[in-house]
Order: sequence, then structure tokens, then C-alpha cells
Amino acid sequence: EGGIGSSPQEEKIFVSIRVRPLNEKEISKNDVSDWECINNTSIIFKHTLPDRAMFPSAYTFDRVFGADTPTKQVYEEGARAVALSAVGGINSSIFAYGQTSSGKTYTMTGITECAVADMYNYIDMHKERQYLLKFSAMEIYNEAVRDLLSSDSGPLRLLDDPEKGTVVERLTEVTLKDWSHLKELLSICEAERKIGETSLNETSSRSHQIMRLTIESTAREYRGMENSSTLAAQVNFVDLAGSERASQTLSVGTRLKEGSHINRSLLTLGTVIRKLSKGRNGHVPYRDSKLTRILQNSLGGNARTAIICTMSPARSHVEQSRNTLLFASCAK
Ligand code: ADP
Ligand code: MG
Repeated sequence: EGGIGSSPQEEKIFVSIRVRPLNEKEISKNDVSDWECINNTSIIFKHTLPDRAMFPSAYTFDRVFGADTPTKQVYEEGARAVALSAVGGINSSIFAYGQTSSGKTYTMTGITECAVADMYNYIDMHKERQYLLKFSAMEIYNEAVRDLLSSDSGPLRLLDDPEKGTVVERLTEVTLKDWSHLKELLSICEAERKIGETSLNETSSRSHQIMRLTIESTAREYRGMENSSTLAAQVNFVDLAGSERASQTLSVGTRLKEGSHINRSLLTLGTVIRKLSKGRNGHVPYRDSKLTRILQNSLGGNARTAIICTMSPARSHVEQSRNTLLFASCAK
């Protein structure tokens, strides 16, 4: 490994916060919002609670999106640059992190749709190359990987390929025809995910979903010049398990409950992200969980990463919101 100056420039992780609106249930219980986005990079805690001195009340990130920010803007300012890097051959990952019901799925589904629409626009404007978009989707539940585009495939194994790195064996990959084809595939995934929840008698709060877009391109003969170089890269849209699955093990005095609450993939991801954000010195434990193994080629190194941390504004969720902000602070 090269020393300073000889290794490729490492990209910082782009970290943003999205606060969702209070929902009807919260409003009906007279819950109130304690958080205010004072500009597009800062969020403050407005009220004094008895333990306030223990926590910072102002936090700064690359971007902060308030309750009235539409998903399109969250995409454009928080994810677009990272997603489009895959068009140029650079792997990337975009994560939604936050407690259950904070808006991860809402945000990540919207961002995936925006990104694919954006890529089709880009492709239209870059006729000098021929592009191919492929889609696949998987779920990690209790360290078992499942194909969300094939209902009866059983658990998928991870293989180590000397050239490609970790490969998910037998994962279905569909060549996208257009944007509406993506919408179709997303609803298949959603239905498949629901079936899994029902049969396992569990909620999606324990599973991770990865929607993966692979972009391949080759130069066409253009203005008399011929360039046969092929580019291929993937962008991973990751809807994580509820972050309460990680924070339960962090609070002092809480006994670890084997199996039921620990989420190995979520904890390992936290460790990997903290190590990457501090600069890559020493061992990064990618191999300790399925999620980080699958994403290894799209995290760290030359890859680009964005994390959107979602939170509820409600006072009743203040502890989890703080945990989310602390995670986000460690990631930037
Ligand atoms: P999570 O995936 O984190 O458990 P969801 O994405 O399912 O949470 O969101 C919980 C509920 O809140 C859903 O009904 C969703 O439509 C709604 N919601 C989440 N974020 C927003 C938002 N920014 N604006 C409006 N509604 C939202
Ligand atoms: Mg969800």
C-alpha cells in the first residue's frame, strides 16, 4: 500500500440528515417537534430537557433536510453525485440509516427512482457511448441473503471471486428496459419482502435491503474515433434495518440479548464506516458480516458513499434521534 501522495484520493463519506414530518399518530398524541433545521447544514435541539447538558444541542453535516423537503431535492443534494459516479465507472453506495418508522424506505425508494430517471437522461445526452442498466435486489435477514426477484431460490451463498471480489451466487439480474420497468421491479421486491415478513412473523425492521444497479457502457465509433474501452460499475441503494437494533447494544447497563436484538450486519457496518471516515489505517472488518462483504467493493477505496440518516422530529423519539445524530457525526 502506498504512502501519503501515492495512494488514490479517498472520498469523504457524504452525510446528510432528513427529518420527516410529524405523523398523524404523533399529532393525535400531542407530540411536538423539538428539532429545527436552521440552515441547509445545521440542525438544533430546541428545548431544554433535564439531561440536556450531556448532549450537544447543535449538529452540522454536509446537508440537513427539514420536514418540508421533497425527495427529489434530497436526491439532488444528498445522493446524485454519488449515484452518477457509477456512470463513469466508479462503484458507489447510498444508505438510509435510522430508527424504524423514521422514513428510510420512503427515502430510499424515492431516491432509487430519481437516480434511474436521472441515468436515463444522462444516457440520452451521451450518445457517444452505449449503456446497459441491470437491476438486482436482495434482502439480508439474520445473516441469510435472499433474492427479492426470485421467490423460491432459497438462501444465496457468497463466493470469493479472484477478480470481482465477493459475488452473490445465483442472484437474479434483470436488464432494465426503461424507467417504468424499474417501477415494476420495485413493486415485485416490495411484495416479495412482505411475503418474507409474514412467513417469518417479523417486521422489516430487522432486515437490510440492497437494490443494486449495474451500469455498463462501451464507446460507439464517434466522429471517426474508435474507442473500445468498456466501463462497468454498480450503485447500491441500501435500506438498512432499524437503527434501534444497533443502539440497544450500545446503552450502558443493557444486557445483550443473544440473537433477538443484535444485528451483526448493522453493527459491523457501523464499525466499517467509522474506520473509513477516520482514514484507512489498519484493519477494516468487511468480512465480519454479510452486508459489508457484499458491499466491500462499493465502500472505501475508490468507491463513493453517501449516508442519509432519517429521523422523526417527535419528542417521544428524542433518544433514538440523538443516537442517529451521533452515528451520523461519527460517519462524516
Ligand atoms: P422506515 O422504513 O424507516 O421504517 P418508512 O419509510 O416506512 O420508515 O416511513 C414511515 C411512514 O412515514 C410511512 O408511512 C411513510 O410514508 C411516512 N414518511 C416517511 N418519511 C416521510 C417524509 N419525508 N414525508 C412524508 N411522509 C413520510
Ligand atoms: Mg422500512
